[in-house]
Amino acid sequence: MELIDTHCHLTFDDLAGDVEAVVERSRQAGVTAWITVGTDPKENQKAIDLTNRFENMYAAVGIHPHDARDVTADTIAQLKQLAQNQKVVAIGETGLDYYYDNSPRHDQRRVFAQQLKIAAELNLPVIIHCRKAFDDTMDILDEHGRDANKVVFHCFSGSADQAKIVLGKGYHISFTGVVTFRNADKTREAAKVVPPDKLMLETDCPYMSPEPMRKQKLNEPALMLHTAQFLAELKAMNLPDFAQKVTATTTTFFNLPSKSI
Ligand SMILES: [Zn+2]
Ligand SMILES: [Zn+2]
Repeated sequence: MELIDTHCHLTFDDLAGDVEAVVERSRQAGVTAWITVGTDPKENQKAIDLTNRFENMYAAVGIHPHDARDVTADTIAQLKQLAQNQKVVAIGETGLDYYYDNSPRHDQRRVFAQQLKIAAELNLPVIIHCRKAFDDTMDILDEHGRDANKVVFHCFSGSADQAKIVLGKGYHISFTGVVTFRNADKTREAAKVVPPDKLMLETDCPYMSPEPMRKQKLNEPALMLHTAQFLAELKAMNLPDFAQKVTATTTTFFNLPSKSI
């Protein structure tokens, strides 16, 4: 079985120091490819550097909405440059976060739109971070989104109705270990409406270990197996079939070389 962690932060301090062991444990668990996701100019560079050390590891480069306030024309030009590296498979994470509001909303919207433009110019998929900002996110995607097949909502936290709206646009949806949490009924209802050809898996590590490992403070790609097991069961599929379908979806979405998994 081969699973792909489509959204991890292997460059964050907690994991970076031990990354060889983290990757080895992941392989043992059947999670055999990774997309490590940048959040600011420094992390983007680190993500690309890290992918050069591991086969089957890819990078996404983007500016997180938290950091939107500092973004200048130079930041965007530099991002576009980095995005042309051959290990970069997506723009992200980008989007809107009205839960934390760490950057003014007008900056978040501006920087999100600028990144959608880069993705369109370079024909790359986009990894969307959306928290408490569903309507504005959809509006900006309607205005600037170009290829409906190349948008994924990561760490989906919306309702089943919102999932249906996202799917109606042709977009993909990705789930973290949150779907396994006892109080996550809403996320489970959403997961039920997402077919395997639109569904992807991620850890978003080092955050949010899935049940039954939730107490493990540091999440890592190996633990994504629990999320895969949980979702397979939720969909009344056996794990190898579910894994095969979701991995095929992921390989196509990110245009990964098929030998990579
Ligand atoms: Zn995020
Ligand atoms: Zn993330």
